[in-house]
Amino acid sequence: MFIPASVPDARGKFGPYGGQFVPETLMPALAGLTAAYESACRDPDFVAEFQHLLRTYVGRPSPISHARRLSAALGGAQIYFKREDLNHTGAHKINNALGQALLAQRMGKRRIVAETGAGQHGVGTATACALLGLECIVYMGSVDMARQQPNVLRMKLLGASVRSVESGSKTLKDAINEAIRDWVTNVETTHYLLGSVLGPHPYPLMVRDFQSVIGQEARQQILAETGRLPDVVIACVGGGSNALGIFHAFRDDEQVALIGVEAGGAGISSGKHAARFADLAISRVGVLHGTKSFVMQTPDGQIRETHSISAGLDYPSVGPEHAWLRDQERAGYTYATDAEALAAFQTLCRTEGIIPALESSHAVAEAIKRAPSMRPDQIILVNLSGRGDKDLDTVMQALDKV
Ligand SMILES: *Cc1c(COP(=O)(O)O)cnc(C)c1O
Repeated sequence: MFIPASVPDARGKFGPYGGQFVPETLMPALAGLTAAYESACRDPDFVAEFQHLLRTYVGRPSPISHARRLSAALGGAQIYFKREDLNHTGAHKINNALGQALLAQRMGKRRIVAETGAGQHGVGTATACALLGLECIVYMGSVDMARQQPNVLRMKLLGASVRSVESGSKTLKDAINEAIRDWVTNVETTHYLLGSVLGPHPYPLMVRDFQSVIGQEARQQILAETGRLPDVVIACVGGGSNALGIFHAFRDDEQVALIGVEAGGAGISSGKHAARFADLAISRVGVLHGTKSFVMQTPDGQIRETHSISAGLDYPSVGPEHAWLRDQERAGYTYATDAEALAAFQTLCRTEGIIPALESSHAVAEAIKRAPSMRPDQIILVNLSGRGDKDLDTVMQALDKV
């Protein structure tokens, strides 16, 4: 289930990245969480329970689909999608939410705090808590609450209490600050359920492992269906959990290129984007929310506002393992702009009958760029991280403007 890997080390370092940059009061909680996670991974009952829920509740394995019409229209490589959009709640986030909720239950912690930007992770967490009968508190910036009303309603229906955050820019990074504050105060009873491969060790490791089921299934599925490995695996990168989830199983297959796609927003030169690896003028190594990685910042080290048409990619830092994979040249990183993602969104709707999440549309945009220059016997595997129902308002407003 969990694939052994050389990183992170015992201190949670991915080379120079990662680690644990937290207040002293949280160090015992992180040590306890690390120990509980390691013991859970070795416990066949825990692994079996997680796998059982993935199968009977999430609906795994999610299939892979050959995009025949899209591939033919582009006239190059064959494009396959890993269909995380078909999971219960419509995205990959539920894999990690369930894994961590089971772990919290095992640790005897019955109160869960989480943060959410677009609301997707909040919905995944509220769902897992409802299933396991855990108390759920979700912090959300008031600006995001106004933008993402349907997800606020979903969380409330699922029994979560959604707390509005009024500090700072009233968005995701402020909600994370509040969730961490709550955790520090209530650490005896509470588990902080983090939504991506971010934060202090062991979160980047644990979230990667809970998501690695994506790549394990996809690798077997593509071998079974085509008899070979893909030439390229592409995924969008917000914090980076769906990307590591699909990359991890392929990391020792040197012939398979791994490509992460960040949010290019209004274009790199505009400064309005979340392409942490593309714009090294405003993105430098720094510490945010407990981990060291690339962070978009002002010259004096303040966190910069980011922009993306997709809320799930709109975060000023990126998981430390991605920074390490990039240094090792094991993965490559590029970006798609809002306009390219929107065009890919529309293309996929019409050629394949799939309405993808705007986040996933960034990965689709990169496949559309690459496929024509590849041979028809080559394969691109794209992680379709989620479905687009949540994005219909955003898409309609954006299309009105063009
Ligand atoms: C949250 C989200 C993302 C971005 O998060 P990662 O941790 O980078 O995977 C991507 N796609 C969808 C559908 C999401 O909900």
